[in-house]
Amino acid sequence: MMMGIKPLTQWGFGWSGRPIVFAGPCSAETPEQVLETAQKLKNTGVHAIRAGIWKPRTRPGSFQGMGDEALQWVVDAGKTVGLPVLVEVANPRHIDVALKAGINMLWLGARTTVNPFLVQELADALVGIDVPILVKNPVNPDLELWQGAIERILKTGNNRVAAIHRGFSSYENSTYRNKPNWEIPIELRRRLPELPMLCDPSHICGNTFMLAYVSQFALDLQYEGLMIESHRDPKNALSDSAQQLTPESLTDLLNSLIVRKPTSDNIFELSKLEDLRDQIDEVDNEIVNMMASRMEIARKIGNYKYNNEVTILQPERWDEIIKSRTQLGISKKLTRDFILKLYSIIHEESIFQQTQQMNKISKSDEHKMNESES
Ligand code: PEP
Ligand code: MN
Repeated sequence: MMMGIKPLTQWGFGWSGRPIVFAGPCSAETPEQVLETAQKLKNTGVHAIRAGIWKPRTRPGSFQGMGDEALQWVVDAGKTVGLPVLVEVANPRHIDVALKAGINMLWLGARTTVNPFLVQELADALVGIDVPILVKNPVNPDLELWQGAIERILKTGNNRVAAIHRGFSSYENSTYRNKPNWEIPIELRRRLPELPMLCDPSHICGNTFMLAYVSQFALDLQYEGLMIESHRDPKNALSDSAQQLTPESLTDLLNSLIVRKPTSDNIFELSKLEDLRDQIDEVDNEIVNMMASRMEIARKIGNYKYNNEVTILQPERWDEIIKSRTQLGISKKLTRDFILKLYSIIHEESIFQQTQQMNKISKSDEHKMNESES
């Protein structure tokens, strides 16, 4: 089943080299916008034009895409400039109308891949239909779900299937809109080595200034292609305005990329380091947040102690903390010395925050008393 997936260069569109680039607006907005963007992108040398017709928006009321009528704009623009066109489909009806209109390739978005019921419905609708399908990673960092969606499509007998890595959402603040978690696409490659892999740096970055870096990184991991959002007038785009490039800037970006020949496995090692650093960033974020929560509680204790007139430092409590935390730390491969140092600064800050809090209340009490006296 996994055999026989065709490389991009054999998809029948006459593509060669690396990277194969799909570019175009996040959303088709008007016939003129699609055509002008496509014409400029043709000059940039891209291999296909993408555009969103139906947009999966997080909140109701935001721009939902122009819908069915925009299909024709995209098909016409593709024909005029002589490039294949691709759109996102999210239900069997989308597939039907997109193919009837003459769209050349389809992709499954991150919010579709996440749902096996829906992916299966799409796969059922695709049986016997020979159209290239690209499968974006699911929004959550779940390799099995991504692989499962790809397998459902491959099972229909289609051999023009590719993966698009668009990053994964996370709760933590991050420099990325969707964190790349490079380990996940790398593992997918290991499991399905024939499957072409494209990177969508636009949805990974959420801005334009990191696009070149992420694109280069993907190329150095031997990705075959890129899918990048490009709009003739990004500032006024109806969706994903911050991350779209003008076709002119896309030309600069593509020219800046260095296409290195596959050498050794070292580049895979490189991405592991990047991934580990991302993990450290996340943990650090958690550490600071947790310290903030701890100090917030310390201030509440400050209130309590003030109201109940008890002392700040309670030696038995401190002794108990030290004992239990060192025990826990040691069981988690931390040294006693580290835990002692760590807790001594945490405790110092805690006492400082409590004291400050108590002084604050006592000042405001004094203030109130003065006011009532005057
Ligand atoms: C898009 O490509 O415009 C899009 C909605 O992407 P994703 O499914 O990756 O969020
Ligand atoms: Mn978009």
